[in-house]
Amino acid sequence: MNRLRQLNELGIDTVWRLRGPSVAVPGLAAAGAGMPAGADRVAPGAAAGAGAGAVAVLGEAALRGVTVPSGWDALEQGVAACNACGLCRSRNRAVPGRGDRSAALMIVGDAPDAEEDAEGEPFAGQSGRLLDNMLGAIGLARGAGAYVTNIVKCRPPAQRSPQADEFVQCAAWLQAQVDLVSPRLILVLGRSAAQGILGGEASVPLLRGQMHRWRDRPVLVSYHPTQLLHTPRDKAKAWEDLLRVRHELSRQPSDRR
Ligand code: SF4
Repeated sequence: MNRLRQLNELGIDTVWRLRGPSVAVPGLAAAGAGMPAGADRVAPGAAAGAGAGAVAVLGEAALRGVTVPSGWDALEQGVAACNACGLCRSRNRAVPGRGDRSAALMIVGDAPDAEEDAEGEPFAGQSGRLLDNMLGAIGLARGAGAYVTNIVKCRPPAQRSPQADEFVQCAAWLQAQVDLVSPRLILVLGRSAAQGILGGEASVPLLRGQMHRWRDRPVLVSYHPTQLLHTPRDKAKAWEDLLRVRHELSRQPSDRR
């Protein structure tokens, strides 16, 4: 599927065209082309307010939750057998993560939903297909340049959001994944994931558009694809966020502040 068709399927073609010729679908070929206005307004370090709680929520002390073995196989086996928090009782399958293990981009979503819980794969079903299409539109895939996971690895009961103590218990697994993948950029999708990583109670609309940091890595925030399925008008904003992702990945380390 070419990028224009992918974008049409995302439902953002009309909005994009209204924004004028500076943002063109084929323009993805040029580094930085299609950047949303203001995309260079990078706030170094944790953003005021929202980012300030990053260490407090998933800081060093939080890594006491589980003892993480070294290596991918041991990590995935450890997650599958983990009973460090109560979510082990509500899962069918733990959902460790999937994708390119040396990816430039790590995507962290909210807790697994029913489909993810059944398949053992993050971002499954319709929301997963939407995410794959969006990644494809910027030349990435979960197996090529992107690694996807969730902030907690087990499905909470009754479709509730994960709680702070569950973030804390599960943080060591996420940290181990970040250490193994060593991504250049982390894209956090969804309110639960953003608040778990960055702290505070700010909403996605408030957190997106700023460069945050978590454990000395740059972090961007955007909408979870499930949210986009419910609120299609936000797809255009999500697309702006993806263009920002693409721009950041195209920058040399020396270009970043
Ligand atoms: S959510 Fe995380 S900490 Fe809790 S049981 Fe699952 S893997 Fe372990």
